[in-house]
Amino acid sequence: MLRSKMLINGELVDSISGRIEIIYNPADQEPVAEVSTGSRDDARLALQSAQKAFSAWSSTHSNWRAEILHEAAGLVRRRTDEIATLLTQEQGKPLKDARKEILASADVLDYYAEEGKRNFGEWIPASSRNSRSLVIKQPVGVAAIITPWNLPVDLMAWKVGPALASGCTVVAKPPNLAPLAATAFIQAINDAGALPGAVNVVHGPGSEVGAELVENSISRKIAFTGETATGRWIMEHAALHIKRISLELGGQSPLIVCRDASIDKAADACVQRAFFNMGQLCISINRIYVAEEVADEFISKLVDRTIRLKVGNGLEPGVDLGPMFSHDQRQKTKEHIADAIQKGAKILCGGHEPEGKEYERGFFFLPTVLVDVDHSMRVMREETFGPVAPIMRFKTLDDAIDLANDTEYGLASYIFTNDLTTAIQAAEKLEAGGIGINVNNVAELQAPFGGWKQSGFGRELGHYGLEEYLEIKHIRFGF
Ligand code: NDP
Repeated sequence: MLRSKMLINGELVDSISGRIEIIYNPADQEPVAEVSTGSRDDARLALQSAQKAFSAWSSTHSNWRAEILHEAAGLVRRRTDEIATLLTQEQGKPLKDARKEILASADVLDYYAEEGKRNFGEWIPASSRNSRSLVIKQPVGVAAIITPWNLPVDLMAWKVGPALASGCTVVAKPPNLAPLAATAFIQAINDAGALPGAVNVVHGPGSEVGAELVENSISRKIAFTGETATGRWIMEHAALHIKRISLELGGQSPLIVCRDASIDKAADACVQRAFFNMGQLCISINRIYVAEEVADEFISKLVDRTIRLKVGNGLEPGVDLGPMFSHDQRQKTKEHIADAIQKGAKILCGGHEPEGKEYERGFFFLPTVLVDVDHSMRVMREETFGPVAPIMRFKTLDDAIDLANDTEYGLASYIFTNDLTTAIQAAEKLEAGGIGINVNNVAELQAPFGGWKQSGFGRELGHYGLEEYLEIKHIRFGF
């Protein structure tokens, strides 16, 4: 069986304790690979390795780092089939989606290879004739990167790319239950010629390995994607050393469908963004508000598209939706649906596991459309992180915007309308870091991605993503 090792100081290593864990496929609960699982001691070793490499890596020219990142992107592309298969086997998503994730991650490396060259400073006229101010930006230091299991490669790339391009060195902690593809991705950066110790990977539970990366004084920057509760813990503990942190946390994203919208386009966009990755996506459409004049048409088109989605083992051709990641994720989804039903919601499709022998051992669930929901229900207030699309009708756009903003989260909001004034007014009033108008995705490689409110702070992607790994230095000259 494949053994996924940790990467420390340019070497693939087993953990100090020799601990091994097995990764299981959520589609059939068969073992996929063994993983060398570390502890706080391994995390410390990795941090020391990154600290040692920092001086050399940060002194290299950005053009040279760009060559390494481009080479790594090429290696990732050549290894796409191998890494994507691992991703499907450990996480469940269909192979076609896994391949897209790997290729998108290679694109991130290419992008930051070039963006790293645009780490511009400023020459500022000073208040006195006899002085000048120069501003430069320098790498923060060792960056600890902690990521979740839902998009384990993409979300790693969003951080490792800009960190390395800026001159930071990295210790990455992929999710404990899905570390294989992310580790293979980072291995490609090492194979591309990154200096030993520039990029390290430690496996192990967040409560040990992740906590050490946060608490140890060596890391100067924590880049985290995951649950809001974990982000809150990280914020508290990073405070001890006043570390730079960026937190990409949970979401509860609304979709507003206006009466003038193209209903076919809105239904296509909704079915994809509510159920892609089994709804296990921070920018999933979680709540749908439809103008009452077009609600029946939208609901019927959404249900029609939903029941046509093919659920199955992600390695099989033609599958649209794989299993959920774990028993716990599926259980939470069922509890949210049960809560909604108990409070008066109706299921139009889905709401249970698919039937058949091929589904018995996996964490499969049918994509579910709910109507007659309200904001007392958990599906409308908490992050379900499951394939559930709850729909409410609205009378006026102001009502819809109030409902959309009635959440502690603020990652993404979507609106479908063909009226420019409505689009502009809604975009300005919706409280989220990303607003999608007639689109179902607010992640764009060249533009900032991140949350408002309890969805976190800091921005990834675009030139904003690079800034997260840079310190500002003012150099004042007198003459
Ligand atoms: P978690 O917060 O449970 O875990 C995320 C990572 O943090 C894992 O690597 C985990 O390790 C680690 N971790 C856990 N506890 C600690 C700790 N005390 N100190 C340091 N690290 C720790 O999130 P999930 O993996 O469950 O991911 C799902 C969540 O991620 C959802 O809430 C989702 O919305 C959010 N997310 C946000 C995105 C955004 O951009 N805003 C994008 C994608 C997802 P381990 O695996 O060992 O538990």
